[in-house]
Amino acid sequence: MTYRIDAIPAFNDNYVWCISDREQDKALVVDPGDAAPVSAFLESRGLTLDMILLTHHHPDHSHGIKTLLREAKVPVHGPTNSPYKGVTHELREGDSFKWRDWQFNVLEVPGHTLDHIAFIAENTPLDVPVAFCGDALFACGCGRLFEGTPAQMRQSLAKLRDLPERTELYCGHEYTLANVAFSLAVTPDNKELQSYESECKRLRENDRPTLPTVLGRELRINPFLRWDSEDVEQAAEAYGQKAALDVSRENPDQVFAAIRHWKDNF
Ligand SMILES: [Zn+2]
Repeated sequence: MTYRIDAIPAFNDNYVWCISDREQDKALVVDPGDAAPVSAFLESRGLTLDMILLTHHHPDHSHGIKTLLREAKVPVHGPTNSPYKGVTHELREGDSFKWRDWQFNVLEVPGHTLDHIAFIAENTPLDVPVAFCGDALFACGCGRLFEGTPAQMRQSLAKLRDLPERTELYCGHEYTLANVAFSLAVTPDNKELQSYESECKRLRENDRPTLPTVLGRELRINPFLRWDSEDVEQAAEAYGQKAALDVSRENPDQVFAAIRHWKDNF
């Protein structure tokens, strides 16, 4: 296959995602927080950097951009009105752009930060839809709410929830095992979640990424995408009573806020 997507590990648990065109030896990278592992990866594969995508301003996603640009002047596609000032192509909800045979559409997904966007490619050369969702959505988790409100984050996740179920989700961090442990506290009887835990443990024991994950599975096991499922509603109400939070199952924002509060204190 001409194209492939690789994970470049950075810092403790970040992934810089790299799409490479193996015929032309060109590469696109997403969220290069650290330049050194990215440069080393490109060099070892004989790839030339061709484009950078940025999902949000946090340094562990953006800090390596300046250094990479010293070696290759390439476009940086990222959010508009971002505290990060190095974006050359500013994007908003509904914008689209191309890289080689790839067409990307932009969703605004504020919550973790206010500038957070996701890059969606529905008809890809890999024959599977792909989403680079940064720190908005994780396998069995979602980003901490540093800048946005629970309601804002839930609306952002609702947009991602509407993507085709086959969509592969390329998240910004390897947080899966910790997220699965939390998800099991919320929905201990979820059989698919239980077997997913064993699968992820095996992958991590072999030092392999648990990502990408697939949206269809996340819809069944990720409590942060299941604010309107009965088991999550019940768990959120019970947690709300313990934590003295107002949680009514008729209010999806309250259900979501309770699950997020629970995870923050887990
Ligand atoms: Zn972040």
